[in-house]
Amino acid sequence: GAMRHLPYFCRGEVVKGFGRGSKELGIPTANFSEQVVESFPSDISTGIYYGWACVGNGDVHKMVLSIGWNPFYKNIKKSVETHIIHTFKEDFYGEILSIVIVGYIRPEKNFDSLDALISAIQEDIEEAKRQLDLPEHLKLKEDNFFHLPEGKIVNDH
Ligand code: ADP
Ligand code: MG
Repeated sequence: GAMRHLPYFCRGEVVKGFGRGSKELGIPTANFSEQVVESFPSDISTGIYYGWACVGNGDVHKMVLSIGWNPFYKNIKKSVETHIIHTFKEDFYGEILSIVIVGYIRPEKNFDSLDALISAIQEDIEEAKRQLDLPEHLKLKEDNFFHLPEGKIVNDH
């Protein structure tokens, strides 16, 4: 479920999430549209992953990603949310986010407190940073997927 589909390349528009207050926790997550989520392999495991991400034609950054259950659809549909490990000057709703999911960190968990949740995410981020520095993972950062030809229309939906 988790590793079989990796690396997984995906591109789509960033939409409004369901206001779980990720940004207030200091870990904003860029949500993909339902259409993009539907295009994912249906048997891909929920949980936390790491990989590379790029907004529009911008730089490629490390990211952590969660595939979870979407409370909007009574938890019968998945949601895919990317936290890019970079400080952006502005929000980028409506922009095209390109990602490659490289590896799996852990399954979804419930936490007893907000502090426990935040420290788990901080650990996920540290794990992602370490993993992505490995040569085999660094090479995906340079993948042609992130270097779009000039003028190409990137929204393939
Ligand atoms: P929402 O519920 O709308 O997804 P969030 O609190 O999760 O709200 O914030 C996500 C938004 O924050 C993204 O859609 C993006 O526009 C913006 N953003 C700013 N910095 C980042 C970042 N480093 N990673 C992901 N999203 C970011
Ligand atoms: Mg979000």
